[in-house]
Amino acid sequence: MKLVFTHPGHIVVAQARTCLELAGIKCVMRNEYAAGAMGELAPIDVWPELWVLRDRDYERATLLLAQSRADIQEEEWHCRRCGTLSPATFEVCWHCAGERSLA
Ligand SMILES: [Zn+2]
Repeated sequence: MKLVFTHPGHIVVAQARTCLELAGIKCVMRNEYAAGAMGELAPIDVWPELWVLRDRDYERATLLLAQSRADIQEEEWHCRRCGTLSPATFEVCWHCAGERSLA
């Protein structure tokens, strides 16, 4: 097992997991419930973590996540509720889980 990704926003880690699962990479989340309510930020020592089960998937996983983040930078959107900038691929605000506005 290798740690590929960690972030204080539970939703961000969950979406990274979905990204890897779609690519056929087996992975698990740790500290999944540390953040409590959706969108709530966890203290740094209990950030949700994403681990790949097979070490050989590690490089591909980091590459996929880097790519998805590169795409993201083109069309970020601002949350109407909290004003946080979220990546284009996210359907809800990573910070407060507010719905994406289509304005
Ligand atoms: Zn928000």
